[in-house]
Amino acid sequence: MYQEFISFVKETFRTEEFIPLHAPVFGGNEKKYLNECIDSTFVSSVGKFVDQFEEEVANFTGAKYAIATSNGTAALHIALLMSGVNRNDEVITQPLTFIATVNAMSYIGAKPIFIDVDKDTLGLSPEKLEHFLTQNTKMVNGECINNTSKRKIKAIVPMHTFGLPLKIDEIVSICNRYNIKVVEDAAESLGSYYKEQHTGTFGLLGTFSFNGNKTITTGGGGMIVTNDANIAQKAKHITTTAKIPHKWDYEHDMVGYNYRLPNINAALGCAQIEKLPEILEQKRTLSNQYQAFFKGTKLQYINENKDSISNYWLNAIVLENLEERNAFLKETNENGVMTRPIWKLMNTLTMHMNAQKGNLENAEWFEKRVVNIPSSAIL
Ligand SMILES: *Cc1c(COP(=O)(O)O)cnc(C)c1O
Repeated sequence: MYQEFISFVKETFRTEEFIPLHAPVFGGNEKKYLNECIDSTFVSSVGKFVDQFEEEVANFTGAKYAIATSNGTAALHIALLMSGVNRNDEVITQPLTFIATVNAMSYIGAKPIFIDVDKDTLGLSPEKLEHFLTQNTKMVNGECINNTSKRKIKAIVPMHTFGLPLKIDEIVSICNRYNIKVVEDAAESLGSYYKEQHTGTFGLLGTFSFNGNKTITTGGGGMIVTNDANIAQKAKHITTTAKIPHKWDYEHDMVGYNYRLPNINAALGCAQIEKLPEILEQKRTLSNQYQAFFKGTKLQYINENKDSISNYWLNAIVLENLEERNAFLKETNENGVMTRPIWKLMNTLTMHMNAQKGNLENAEWFEKRVVNIPSSAIL
Protein backbone atom coordinates (compact mmCIF):
# COMPACT_ATOMS: atom_id res chain seq x y z
CA MET A 1 0.00 0.00 0.00
CA TYR A 2 3.01 2.28 0.23
CA GLN A 3 4.11 1.39 -3.32
CA GLU A 4 2.96 4.75 -4.63
CA PHE A 5 5.32 6.47 -2.22
CA ILE A 6 8.18 4.16 -3.17
CA SER A 7 7.65 4.86 -6.89
CA PHE A 8 7.43 8.58 -6.22
CA VAL A 9 10.79 8.59 -4.38
CA LYS A 10 12.47 6.58 -7.16
CA GLU A 11 11.14 8.97 -9.80
CA THR A 12 12.14 12.02 -7.82
CA PHE A 13 15.69 10.77 -7.26
CA ARG A 14 15.75 9.43 -10.83
CA THR A 15 17.14 6.01 -9.89
CA GLU A 16 16.17 2.38 -9.36
CA GLU A 17 19.17 1.88 -7.06
CA PHE A 18 19.12 2.05 -3.27
CA ILE A 19 18.17 5.54 -2.05
CA PRO A 20 19.84 6.59 1.21
CA LEU A 21 18.29 8.84 3.85
CA HIS A 22 20.89 11.56 3.39
CA ALA A 23 24.02 11.51 1.23
CA PRO A 24 26.50 14.39 0.95
CA VAL A 25 26.84 16.19 -2.40
CA PHE A 26 30.19 17.32 -3.78
CA GLY A 27 29.89 19.49 -6.84
CA GLY A 28 32.28 22.34 -6.17
CA ASN A 29 35.84 23.05 -5.05
CA GLU A 30 36.19 20.06 -2.71
CA LYS A 31 39.01 18.33 -4.62
CA LYS A 32 40.75 21.62 -5.39
CA TYR A 33 40.92 22.70 -1.73
CA LEU A 34 41.84 19.22 -0.53
CA ASN A 35 44.74 19.12 -3.01
CA GLU A 36 45.82 22.58 -1.93
CA CYS A 37 45.70 21.44 1.67
CA ILE A 38 47.78 18.30 0.99
CA ASP A 39 50.30 20.25 -1.11
CA SER A 40 50.77 22.69 1.76
CA THR A 41 51.50 19.76 4.16
CA PHE A 42 49.27 21.54 6.72
CA VAL A 43 46.66 18.80 6.97
CA SER A 44 46.38 18.69 10.75
CA SER A 45 45.66 20.98 13.67
CA VAL A 46 46.70 24.32 12.17
CA GLY A 47 46.22 25.92 8.78
CA LYS A 48 44.45 28.62 6.85
CA PHE A 49 41.32 26.57 6.07
CA VAL A 50 40.38 26.35 9.76
CA ASP A 51 40.43 30.14 10.14
CA GLN A 52 38.62 30.58 6.83
CA PHE A 53 35.90 28.05 7.68
CA GLU A 54 35.31 29.66 11.07
CA GLU A 55 34.97 33.06 9.43
CA GLU A 56 32.56 31.73 6.81
CA VAL A 57 30.31 30.03 9.34
CA ALA A 58 30.27 33.25 11.40
CA ASN A 59 29.35 35.24 8.28
CA PHE A 60 26.67 32.83 7.17
CA THR A 61 24.95 32.58 10.56
CA GLY A 62 25.49 36.20 11.56
CA ALA A 63 27.24 35.16 14.78
CA LYS A 64 30.15 37.36 15.86
CA TYR A 65 32.48 34.44 16.62
CA ALA A 66 32.79 30.83 15.47
CA ILE A 67 35.12 28.19 16.92
CA ALA A 68 35.69 24.98 14.94
CA THR A 69 35.71 21.64 16.76
CA SER A 70 36.34 17.99 15.88
CA ASN A 71 32.62 17.20 15.89
CA GLY A 72 29.24 18.49 17.03
CA THR A 73 29.29 16.55 20.29
CA ALA A 74 32.60 18.17 21.26
CA ALA A 75 31.07 21.57 20.41
CA LEU A 76 28.15 20.85 22.79
CA HIS A 77 30.50 19.62 25.53
CA ILE A 78 32.53 22.85 25.41
CA ALA A 79 29.43 25.07 25.07
CA LEU A 80 28.06 23.56 28.31
CA LEU A 81 31.39 24.15 30.10
CA MET A 82 31.37 27.75 28.84
CA SER A 83 27.87 28.12 30.33
CA GLY A 84 29.27 27.28 33.75
CA VAL A 85 27.87 23.75 33.98
CA ASN A 86 29.73 21.60 36.52
CA ARG A 87 29.44 18.07 37.91
CA ASN A 88 26.06 17.54 39.63
CA ASP A 89 24.48 20.62 38.09
CA GLU A 90 21.32 20.10 36.09
CA VAL A 91 20.61 20.88 32.45
CA ILE A 92 17.17 20.93 30.84
CA THR A 93 16.63 19.44 27.39
CA GLN A 94 13.99 17.73 25.28
CA PRO A 95 13.55 13.93 25.32
CA LEU A 96 13.16 13.95 21.54
CA THR A 97 16.74 14.45 20.34
CA PHE A 98 19.84 12.61 19.17
CA ILE A 99 21.90 11.05 21.99
CA ALA A 100 24.78 13.55 21.48
CA THR A 101 22.76 16.32 23.16
CA VAL A 102 22.58 14.36 26.41
CA ASN A 103 26.02 12.72 26.14
CA ALA A 104 27.62 16.17 26.29
CA MET A 105 25.96 16.68 29.71
CA SER A 106 27.03 13.23 30.93
CA TYR A 107 30.69 13.91 30.04
CA ILE A 108 30.61 16.73 32.60
CA GLY A 109 28.68 14.71 35.18
CA ALA A 110 25.67 17.01 34.85
CA LYS A 111 22.13 15.60 35.06
CA PRO A 112 19.48 16.04 32.37
CA ILE A 113 15.88 17.09 33.06
CA PHE A 114 13.48 16.28 30.23
CA ILE A 115 10.77 18.74 29.18
CA ASP A 116 8.29 18.01 26.40
CA VAL A 117 8.34 19.32 22.83
CA ASP A 118 5.65 21.33 21.04
CA LYS A 119 3.30 19.57 18.63
CA ASP A 120 3.98 22.12 15.85
CA THR A 121 7.80 22.46 16.04
CA LEU A 122 9.00 19.13 17.54
CA GLY A 123 11.26 21.39 19.65
CA LEU A 124 11.33 22.22 23.37
CA SER A 125 8.03 23.79 24.46
CA PRO A 126 8.18 27.27 26.09
CA GLU A 127 4.81 26.68 27.85
CA LYS A 128 5.88 23.36 29.32
CA LEU A 129 9.23 24.86 30.35
CA GLU A 130 7.56 27.79 32.11
CA HIS A 131 5.16 25.40 33.85
CA PHE A 132 8.01 23.19 35.07
CA LEU A 133 10.10 26.10 36.35
CA THR A 134 7.14 27.70 38.14
CA GLN A 135 6.14 24.43 39.85
CA ASN A 136 9.53 22.94 40.62
CA THR A 137 12.14 25.61 41.26
CA LYS A 138 12.95 28.65 43.34
CA MET A 139 15.53 31.39 42.89
CA VAL A 140 18.23 31.51 45.60
CA ASN A 141 20.96 34.18 45.33
CA GLY A 142 20.25 34.58 41.64
CA GLU A 143 20.48 30.86 40.90
CA CYS A 144 17.69 28.52 39.87
CA ILE A 145 17.39 25.71 42.44
CA ASN A 146 15.43 22.52 41.77
CA ASN A 147 13.07 21.93 44.75
CA THR A 148 13.25 18.14 44.40
CA SER A 149 16.99 17.55 43.95
CA LYS A 150 18.23 20.83 45.55
CA ARG A 151 20.65 21.07 42.63
CA LYS A 152 21.29 24.12 40.46
CA ILE A 153 19.71 24.24 37.03
CA LYS A 154 22.47 25.98 35.09
CA ALA A 155 21.63 25.59 31.43
CA ILE A 156 19.13 24.41 28.85
CA VAL A 157 19.77 22.79 25.47
CA PRO A 158 16.82 23.17 23.09
CA MET A 159 17.31 21.38 19.74
CA HIS A 160 15.94 22.44 16.33
CA THR A 161 14.63 19.03 15.24
CA PHE A 162 15.35 18.05 11.61
CA GLY A 163 16.05 21.75 10.90
CA LEU A 164 12.58 22.94 12.00
CA PRO A 165 13.15 26.03 14.16
CA LEU A 166 11.61 25.92 17.64
CA LYS A 167 10.23 28.95 19.53
CA ILE A 168 13.69 29.97 20.63
CA ASP A 169 12.94 33.63 21.44
CA GLU A 170 10.37 32.57 24.06
CA ILE A 171 12.77 30.01 25.55
CA VAL A 172 15.49 32.68 25.84
CA SER A 173 13.19 35.20 27.52
CA ILE A 174 11.95 32.64 30.10
CA CYS A 175 15.49 31.50 30.83
CA ASN A 176 16.74 35.07 31.31
CA ARG A 177 14.29 35.38 34.22
CA TYR A 178 15.62 32.18 35.81
CA ASN A 179 19.30 32.83 35.03
CA ILE A 180 19.50 29.63 32.97
CA LYS A 181 22.04 29.80 30.14
CA VAL A 182 20.77 28.80 26.69
CA VAL A 183 22.91 26.53 24.49
CA GLU A 184 21.16 25.90 21.18
CA ASP A 185 21.83 22.51 19.64
CA ALA A 186 21.65 23.68 16.03
CA ALA A 187 23.46 20.59 14.72
CA GLU A 188 20.62 19.91 12.28
CA SER A 189 19.64 23.47 11.44
CA LEU A 190 22.37 25.19 9.44
CA GLY A 191 20.37 27.36 7.03
CA SER A 192 17.25 27.52 9.27
CA TYR A 193 15.91 30.85 10.52
CA TYR A 194 13.46 31.92 13.20
CA LYS A 195 11.98 35.40 12.72
CA GLU A 196 14.69 36.05 10.14
CA GLN A 197 17.53 35.30 12.56
CA HIS A 198 19.72 32.23 12.07
CA THR A 199 19.15 29.36 14.52
CA GLY A 200 22.00 28.89 16.96
CA THR A 201 22.49 32.65 17.45
CA PHE A 202 19.70 33.32 20.00
CA GLY A 203 21.29 31.64 23.00
CA LEU A 204 24.53 32.43 24.81
CA LEU A 205 26.10 29.78 22.58
CA GLY A 206 25.00 27.63 19.66
CA THR A 207 26.54 24.50 18.15
CA PHE A 208 26.60 22.94 14.69
CA SER A 209 27.66 19.57 13.29
CA PHE A 210 29.33 18.83 9.96
CA ASN A 211 29.07 15.07 10.20
CA GLY A 212 28.65 13.20 6.91
CA ASN A 213 24.86 13.07 7.16
CA LYS A 214 24.31 16.77 7.90
CA THR A 215 23.34 19.53 5.42
CA ILE A 216 27.00 20.18 4.61
CA THR A 217 29.92 18.07 5.79
CA THR A 218 33.60 18.24 6.72
CA GLY A 219 33.73 14.44 7.05
CA GLY A 220 33.48 14.98 10.79
CA GLY A 221 33.41 18.36 12.43
CA GLY A 222 31.54 20.88 14.52
CA MET A 223 31.33 24.58 15.35
CA ILE A 224 30.53 26.70 18.38
CA VAL A 225 29.05 30.14 17.74
CA THR A 226 28.62 33.02 20.19
CA ASN A 227 28.43 36.80 20.28
CA ASP A 228 30.45 36.99 23.51
CA ALA A 229 34.12 37.84 22.85
CA ASN A 230 35.30 36.53 26.21
CA ILE A 231 33.53 33.19 25.79
CA ALA A 232 34.80 32.86 22.22
CA GLN A 233 38.39 33.38 23.35
CA LYS A 234 37.99 30.83 26.20
CA ALA A 235 36.32 28.28 23.92
CA LYS A 236 39.15 28.52 21.40
CA HIS A 237 41.70 28.14 24.18
CA ILE A 238 40.11 25.10 25.84
CA THR A 239 39.47 23.27 22.54
CA THR A 240 43.13 23.69 21.54
CA THR A 241 44.82 22.07 24.60
CA ALA A 242 44.80 25.36 26.55
CA LYS A 243 48.26 26.25 25.28
CA ILE A 244 49.60 29.70 26.11
CA PRO A 245 50.74 31.24 22.81
CA HIS A 246 54.55 31.33 22.67
CA LYS A 247 57.13 30.97 19.91
CA TRP A 248 58.53 27.71 21.32
CA ASP A 249 57.47 26.99 24.89
CA TYR A 250 54.83 24.39 25.76
CA GLU A 251 52.85 25.84 28.60
CA HIS A 252 49.23 25.05 29.36
CA ASP A 253 47.25 26.93 32.00
CA MET A 254 44.38 24.48 32.51
CA VAL A 255 43.18 21.03 31.47
CA GLY A 256 42.29 21.56 27.82
CA TYR A 257 40.89 19.33 25.12
CA ASN A 258 42.20 18.27 21.74
CA TYR A 259 38.94 19.15 20.03
CA ARG A 260 40.53 20.95 17.05
CA LEU A 261 39.10 20.54 13.59
CA PRO A 262 41.93 19.30 11.31
CA ASN A 263 42.79 21.67 8.45
CA ILE A 264 42.00 18.94 5.88
CA ASN A 265 38.44 18.68 7.23
CA ALA A 266 38.13 22.46 7.22
CA ALA A 267 39.27 22.50 3.56
CA LEU A 268 36.29 20.28 2.72
CA GLY A 269 34.07 22.58 4.76
CA CYS A 270 35.24 25.68 2.86
CA ALA A 271 34.19 24.06 -0.41
CA GLN A 272 30.91 22.79 1.02
CA ILE A 273 29.80 26.12 2.46
CA GLU A 274 30.20 27.73 -0.98
CA LYS A 275 27.52 25.28 -2.14
CA LEU A 276 25.23 25.81 0.85
CA PRO A 277 22.78 28.29 -0.76
CA GLU A 278 22.32 25.95 -3.72
CA ILE A 279 21.93 22.89 -1.47
CA LEU A 280 19.29 24.72 0.60
CA GLU A 281 17.40 25.67 -2.55
CA GLN A 282 17.45 22.05 -3.73
CA LYS A 283 16.23 20.82 -0.36
CA ARG A 284 13.35 23.30 -0.46
CA THR A 285 12.40 22.06 -3.94
CA LEU A 286 12.41 18.47 -2.68
CA SER A 287 10.29 19.49 0.30
CA ASN A 288 7.74 21.13 -2.02
CA GLN A 289 7.58 17.95 -4.10
CA TYR A 290 6.95 15.87 -0.98
CA GLN A 291 4.30 18.31 0.25
CA ALA A 292 2.46 18.06 -3.05
CA PHE A 293 2.68 14.26 -2.98
CA PHE A 294 1.40 13.85 0.59
CA LYS A 295 -1.51 16.26 0.14
CA GLY A 296 -4.65 14.15 0.01
CA THR A 297 -2.99 11.03 1.48
CA LYS A 298 -3.44 9.94 5.09
CA LEU A 299 0.25 10.58 5.72
CA GLN A 300 1.01 13.97 7.21
CA TYR A 301 4.11 15.86 6.04
CA ILE A 302 5.75 17.96 8.77
CA ASN A 303 6.05 21.47 7.41
CA GLU A 304 7.87 24.57 8.68
CA ASN A 305 5.83 26.89 10.92
CA LYS A 306 4.98 30.54 10.66
CA ASP A 307 7.87 32.90 11.48
CA SER A 308 10.35 30.23 10.51
CA ILE A 309 12.36 28.97 7.58
CA SER A 310 13.46 25.34 7.77
CA ASN A 311 16.53 24.00 5.97
CA TYR A 312 14.51 20.78 5.49
CA TRP A 313 17.58 18.78 6.49
CA LEU A 314 15.53 15.61 6.99
CA ASN A 315 11.99 15.43 5.67
CA ALA A 316 9.62 13.81 8.12
CA ILE A 317 6.10 12.42 8.04
CA VAL A 318 3.60 11.34 10.69
CA LEU A 319 1.98 7.91 10.36
CA GLU A 320 -1.41 7.10 11.87
CA ASN A 321 -0.12 4.83 14.62
CA LEU A 322 2.72 2.50 15.60
CA GLU A 323 1.45 -0.40 13.45
CA GLU A 324 1.27 1.80 10.35
CA ARG A 325 4.69 3.22 11.12
CA ASN A 326 6.20 -0.25 11.35
CA ALA A 327 4.50 -1.36 8.14
CA PHE A 328 5.80 1.75 6.35
CA LEU A 329 9.37 1.18 7.61
CA LYS A 330 9.30 -2.46 6.52
CA GLU A 331 7.87 -1.89 3.06
CA THR A 332 10.11 1.08 2.16
CA ASN A 333 13.36 -0.41 3.48
CA GLU A 334 12.66 -3.73 1.74
CA ASN A 335 12.19 -1.86 -1.53
CA GLY A 336 15.43 0.11 -1.61
CA VAL A 337 14.05 3.33 -0.11
CA MET A 338 15.79 4.08 3.16
CA THR A 339 13.53 5.39 5.91
CA ARG A 340 14.15 5.61 9.65
CA PRO A 341 12.00 6.08 12.75
CA ILE A 342 12.58 9.10 14.98
CA TRP A 343 14.87 8.49 17.98
CA LYS A 344 13.80 6.52 21.03
CA LEU A 345 13.10 9.09 23.74
CA MET A 346 16.19 9.92 25.84
CA ASN A 347 14.32 9.32 29.13
CA THR A 348 13.70 5.69 28.11
CA LEU A 349 17.41 4.86 27.65
CA THR A 350 19.02 2.91 30.50
CA MET A 351 21.43 5.75 31.41
CA HIS A 352 18.61 8.26 31.88
CA MET A 353 15.66 6.20 33.08
CA ASN A 354 15.71 7.87 36.49
CA ALA A 355 16.07 11.43 35.22
CA GLN A 356 13.49 14.00 36.31
CA LYS A 357 10.94 14.81 33.64
CA GLY A 358 7.76 16.71 32.96
CA ASN A 359 4.69 15.42 31.17
CA LEU A 360 6.07 14.12 27.86
CA GLU A 361 2.82 13.42 25.98
CA ASN A 362 3.83 15.12 22.71
CA ALA A 363 7.25 13.48 22.52
CA GLU A 364 5.64 10.11 23.27
CA TRP A 365 3.06 10.70 20.54
CA PHE A 366 5.77 11.55 17.97
CA GLU A 367 8.01 8.65 19.03
CA LYS A 368 5.39 6.15 17.81
CA ARG A 369 4.60 7.88 14.51
CA VAL A 370 7.41 9.92 12.97
CA VAL A 371 9.53 8.58 10.12
CA ASN A 372 12.28 10.31 8.13
CA ILE A 373 12.28 9.86 4.37
CA PRO A 374 15.08 10.33 1.77
CA SER A 375 16.28 13.93 1.92
CA SER A 376 19.54 14.31 0.00
CA ALA A 377 19.93 17.42 -2.12
CA ILE A 378 19.62 16.57 -5.80
CA LEU A 379 22.21 18.75 -7.53
C1 LIG B 1 24.42 15.35 14.54
C2 LIG B 1 23.96 15.85 15.83
C3 LIG B 1 24.85 16.26 16.85
C4 LIG B 1 26.35 16.21 16.75
O1 LIG B 1 26.84 15.10 16.16
P1 LIG B 1 28.36 14.80 15.79
O2 LIG B 1 28.24 13.50 15.08
O3 LIG B 1 29.12 14.71 17.08
O4 LIG B 1 28.90 15.89 14.92
C5 LIG B 1 24.32 16.78 18.02
N1 LIG B 1 23.01 16.90 18.20
C6 LIG B 1 22.12 16.55 17.25
C7 LIG B 1 20.67 16.76 17.51
C8 LIG B 1 22.56 16.00 16.05
O5 LIG B 1 21.66 15.63 15.13
